[in-house]
Amino acid sequence: MIENLHFIFGDQLSHSLLNLQHADKENDVILMCEVSQEANYAEHHKKKIAFIFAAMRHFAQELGDQGFKVDYVKLDDAKNSGSFDEELKRAIEKYQPQKISLTEPSEYRVWQKVLHWQKIHKITFEIFPDTRFLCSQVEFRNWAKDKKQLRLEFFYREMRKKHKILLDATNKPIGGKWNYDIENRKAPKTGMKSPTRISHKKDAITSEVLDLVAEKFPKNFGDLLPFHFAVTRDQAMIEAKHFIDELLINFGDYQDAMLSNEPYLYHSLLSCYINVGLLEPLEICKMAERAYHKGRAPLNAVEGFIRQILGWREYVRGIYWLRMPQYLESNFLNAKKDLPEFYWNGETQMFCLSEVVKQTKQHAYSHHIQRLMITGNFALIAGLSPKQVHEWYLGVYADAFEWVEAPNTIGMALYADGGVMASKPYAASGKYISRMSNFCKSCRFDPEITVGEKACPFNALYWNFLQENEAQLKNNQRLTFAYANLRKMEKPKLQEILAQAQKNLEKLTANKL
Ligand SMILES: Cc1cc2nc3c(=O)[nH]c(=O)nc-3n(C[C@H](O)[C@H](O)[C@H](O)COP(=O)(O)OP(=O)(O)OC[C@H]3O[C@@H](n4cnc5c(N)ncnc54)[C@H](O)[C@@H]3O)c2cc1C
Ligand code: SF4
Repeated sequence: MIENLHFIFGDQLSHSLLNLQHADKENDVILMCEVSQEANYAEHHKKKIAFIFAAMRHFAQELGDQGFKVDYVKLDDAKNSGSFDEELKRAIEKYQPQKISLTEPSEYRVWQKVLHWQKIHKITFEIFPDTRFLCSQVEFRNWAKDKKQLRLEFFYREMRKKHKILLDATNKPIGGKWNYDIENRKAPKTGMKSPTRISHKKDAITSEVLDLVAEKFPKNFGDLLPFHFAVTRDQAMIEAKHFIDELLINFGDYQDAMLSNEPYLYHSLLSCYINVGLLEPLEICKMAERAYHKGRAPLNAVEGFIRQILGWREYVRGIYWLRMPQYLESNFLNAKKDLPEFYWNGETQMFCLSEVVKQTKQHAYSHHIQRLMITGNFALIAGLSPKQVHEWYLGVYADAFEWVEAPNTIGMALYADGGVMASKPYAASGKYISRMSNFCKSCRFDPEITVGEKACPFNALYWNFLQENEAQLKNNQRLTFAYANLRKMEKPKLQEILAQAQKNLEKLTANKL
């Protein structure tokens, strides 16, 4: 019999967790488990499963080294039942704890489980808030209350003030402006190369996990090897320092740039480490702020980076908890087409899409603009089902957890929430992709052409998207210019473009685009 059973989930790998702060090394047990139900609830990338299990096992080892009693259930343990429900029940029977302690789960699905456990187990549950997030659910609800529009910019300013980040002595934004995004849209330079990324050595724990994933998930999407991920806090901190010292300086300028064979450019690659708890959002923001004060990175880069973490990351979590569970059903534009095969195999003549899917398959990563303006933009203008697109994003990236993935996909990329998150749909033609990348140079299509054999499919699909969704979108102020252009178009020309879009969509359905 023990006093307290602490249940730690796979994205709670932080020594700062409140329930861990309350754990007693003598009288408590910490439970962690790898369950097949979690590993299979989406089509997870092999690297994602390996990263999470390896990070969990290292975290359990660290806790054990600190003197905690840890019960770690491996995926292939003979008695592993495969679900959180059963593993908790088994641990209760084994230890007969007086109390179950946990930190609130990040995802709605797991929160429903916790509510259910409280009903069926006649034990006290002690549930701690997740203080790693910088805005609590209650705080976000209060902020959102009475607001007609939930715009990131205003939320972000509040967060800057609350956490006193990049403020001067009078609490005004350093440099005089809150947001330097306008400076962060440079096109890539020819021959541009970003510094080589760190590859962490694999120890016996990681090697064992890699063998396990190879054996148990052979058919899952993505390449398991090479595996470069950090799997401990110390290694993740090396990644963070490398980013701050070597890459942050250019982060802002080339934030929106895309290059083939340069999947990372100047992006931090920190999302997966922050999302599982190896790094904490506030410490990363402070590291970036210090780099600015030491004159090691310009304001546009530092502000832009901090906005992503202090602003966007907290904001999407707020939206998720505000709108769940209905959020997953959102389909404002009534988009219904099935996700094409090429999202899984990369086999499409559209170079930009094949390149981004290829990078995704290799690294379980693609950067924000690739997610938003290539795979997301295409899904939007081709009218793909938000649910299917959401399930794809939830599986293929190492950083994908529903609380952050769903608002980004359903809200930002697909406008399926009708504008809760984004003030307009991020729909763009091939000309945008040509300006911000070198993809079009290797493509059989031409971003300047809209109709005919060589026409870039994005172009006709873009106009078709505006035309088809006119009823829902025409009153959006930020689309006034786009709709004015659509109306200016001569009828025969428009008909030709719309016919081309139908051809593109037919080819898409036949997997021939
Ligand atoms: C359709 C779509 C799906 C996405 N799915 C996920 C997801 O499953 N998990 C995830 O963490 N991010 C997701 N994002 C947001 C963003 O693309 C990733 O956080 C980012 O690409 C991660 O790479 P990075 O660490 O190199 O980020 P950087 O470009 O270096 O940005 C720094 C950090 O800011 C945070 N951040 C940046 N943008 C966002 C954002 N829009 N929302 C939340 N946090 C942000 C991340 O923690 C990131 O590590 C998605 C975006 C889109 C458009
Ligand atoms: S031409 Fe069109 S399809 Fe080809 S890479 Fe450029 S944007 Fe993509």
